[in-house]
Amino acid sequence: MKKLISILLAFALCVSICACGENACIDSEETSNTTTVAETTETTTEISSEIKSDYILNTNSMKFHYPSCHSAKKISDKNRKEYHGTRDSVISQGYDACGICNP
Ligand SMILES: [Zn+2]
Repeated sequence: MKKLISILLAFALCVSICACGENACIDSEETSNTTTVAETTETTTEISSEIKSDYILNTNSMKFHYPSCHSAKKISDKNRKEYHGTRDSVISQGYDACGICNP
């Protein structure tokens, strides 16, 4: 009786390992595909609304820039304000997007 149980256990173990191995392989391929698709759609839709970024605000001209914008680097310290938030929240404060860097 003990032998039968151990044989059954060994068989079950073998089956589960084989099944797991195949499933894991299929799963990882499927999930990697779906995540890449999801990521690309998310980034394209969220850039304009939800994603928080660093911006440089010009409190004098009421324009906002990407920190990399060469025009933002010319803003004098008293008119310059660093901001981290969504694009919409900057616009809602009355700022306009810079025409050069198009933040
Ligand atoms: Zn700019």
